Amino acid sequence: IEKSSVTVVGLGPMGRAMAAAFLDRGYDVTLWNRTASRADELVARGAVFAPTVDDALAANEVVVLSLTDYTAMYDVLEPATARALAGRILVNLSSDTPERARAAARWAAERGAVHLTGGVTVSPAGIGQPDSSTFYSGPREVFEEHRSLLEVVTGHVAYQGEDPGLAALLYQLGMVMFWTSMVSYWQAIALARANGLTAADILPHAVDTANSLTGFFAFYAERIDAGNHLGDVDRLAMGAASVEHVLHTFADSGVDTALPAAVADLFRRGMDAGHATDSFSSLVELMRTPTA
Ligand code: NDP
Repeated sequence: IEKSSVTVVGLGPMGRAMAAAFLDRGYDVTLWNRTASRADELVARGAVFAPTVDDALAANEVVVLSLTDYTAMYDVLEPATARALAGRILVNLSSDTPERARAAARWAAERGAVHLTGGVTVSPAGIGQPDSSTFYSGPREVFEEHRSLLEVVTGHVAYQGEDPGLAALLYQLGMVMFWTSMVSYWQAIALARANGLTAADILPHAVDTANSLTGFFAFYAERIDAGNHLGDVDRLAMGAASVEHVLHTFADSGVDTALPAAVADLFRRGMDAGHATDSFSSLVELMRTPTA
């Protein structure tokens, strides 16, 4: 039986965790990184650090990319020779926009390579774990052929379709929720601290609040898909008043108000657009177009 092998390019916290996961499963692992020293621990475990990007590409058909963004990918791969790139499968687990993922797929195709877009939904600690997951999009047969290799990175692999932008879209959709939710948590902590409470003091309440959200997601998803923004359960006017209370509480406590002010602005625009007696889910319609 031929030993499984893979190349990993990019050795930030994610790339290092991925390379380690492949070593754990007995893969032959070839590495390349701009800063060579980041490979030291992995080389000590048996990985091979390729002297050039061309060598790293030539070593294996499957090349996992874990770089800061797609600009870094072009910085690394543009200087590679046509021969080194031809026939490679670039599993790009770097984060960027759907448009840039589509452009990268065209860029790879022009060089005889295949681009598989990935969006990893876990932090480095989740890499190699059975309950972690990654979105993929691109050529289905390439995804299926290399499924077992991809399942080393995260136990679950969720194929989204042929469009190379889809995995990036799903990833960014999760990230907008992650970043704004976490910042809303920092916002709550800032208010707590301004009033003599610690993050630990408010943790149980913060967790209860976050847990309550999933029920609202399901409730509103069904109504939104049905075009139903009836104000029978909540009204935008009530929400707008509540958000103003939030904003004033922050202002009174002398802490940053950027986030609640932005939310209050959105509610005011909904009111101005005539949705006062509709549900605050009507903001979804307002958000379909760019800010006026
Ligand atoms: P880092 O940004 O820490 O590291 C990425 C790698 O990119 C490093 O090896 C770095 O090289 C390399 N790099 C950056 N710019 C260039 C360049 N211009 N030329 C050559 N190499 C470059 O990222 P992470 O490892 O944390 O994450 C990798 C990807 O995974 C990112 O797209 C991130 O958004 C995504 N991600 C990260 C998660 C996390 O929790 N960390 C979770 C989910 C996704 P060097 O070592 O030389 O600096």
